[in-house]
Amino acid sequence: MSGMRKNFQVWFTELRKVMTTNSDFKYVFGPVPSRRLGRSLGVDLVPFKTCTYDCIYCQLGRTTKKTIQRQEYVPLDKVLRELRRKLTTCKPDYITLSGSGEPTLYSPLKALIRGIKKETAIPLAVLTNGSLLWNRNVQDALLLADLVIPSLDAADESMFQYVNRPHASISFDRMVKGLIDFRSRYSGTLWLEVFLLGGVTGVAAEVSRINKIAKRLKPDRIQLNTVTRPPAEEFAFPTPEEQMKRFCRLFSMKTEFIAAYHGAVGKADIQSNTGDILNLLRRRPCTLKDVASGLSLHPTQAAKALETLLCNKQISEQRTNGCVYFSIQQKKKNIIKKRRAK
Ligand code: SF4
Repeated sequence: MSGMRKNFQVWFTELRKVMTTNSDFKYVFGPVPSRRLGRSLGVDLVPFKTCTYDCIYCQLGRTTKKTIQRQEYVPLDKVLRELRRKLTTCKPDYITLSGSGEPTLYSPLKALIRGIKKETAIPLAVLTNGSLLWNRNVQDALLLADLVIPSLDAADESMFQYVNRPHASISFDRMVKGLIDFRSRYSGTLWLEVFLLGGVTGVAAEVSRINKIAKRLKPDRIQLNTVTRPPAEEFAFPTPEEQMKRFCRLFSMKTEFIAAYHGAVGKADIQSNTGDILNLLRRRPCTLKDVASGLSLHPTQAAKALETLLCNKQISEQRTNGCVYFSIQQKKKNIIKKRRAK
């Protein structure tokens, strides 16, 4: 093959890669497969790990910007424009405000939801940690959503501080009062997510106390979750599956365990990313953020694909200096080396 033709092929491959990755979408990602929401088109409204909490179980690592400052972190018109463009190529089951931080920190949230509603009849969900629901403007915005999924991971101040490590101005009472106040105004669907940590909140006494608060909130259903992806802190452990199933019966309203199904949904969507991730990890160990930025994936998509590879034992995780690094399994590496040597 002539040098010129080879160069053209390399250039063309690169061009195709650029055109088929998500790199031209900065705020909209997916649709990602979600057991709860089907094919969910995500909208990310804040920079990576900008959050009101720093949960010890966070799959995205430690919070780098802990704040309660609401801002237009990304331009409203650009988000709406991107969404409009994306909706010409796909029809998701839900549009979901979620992503790599807390979406209620986005100050034009109400205008955004209004704009989305004008654009499409696809139902809109908001995944929030619920920490800002004492703020009337946040409440007013979320009243427009079809489905709101807030979190409640603790039953008192000390457990709240241990698990969620909130911003100094958010107390447990303030957070719970905000949730209950919002519920009294909101007539849409509300599912409460409860994350249970092995040996900490994943014990019957704590679950019963969380149930007492949940009863006041009157959610349409409760979804129990536990650690399935590498957590921010190595001392955050999963609650065993059997126990999680037993805990479902301790709640007074319809309750299901969702973590058990992670990785089982939408394998085809995830597999399209795993080949590229394996190629990257063959060269060097990477963090979730490295993988996401290196391959122009949204952190949520990268996390789902990494989880699949971990489950299949194709990669391993290692914690160094407080960061989780993913690398290709040593055994696999040796097989690849042997194949190359032949
Ligand atoms: S789990 Fe959610 S609420 Fe907790 S630190 Fe991570 S992004 Fe924030």
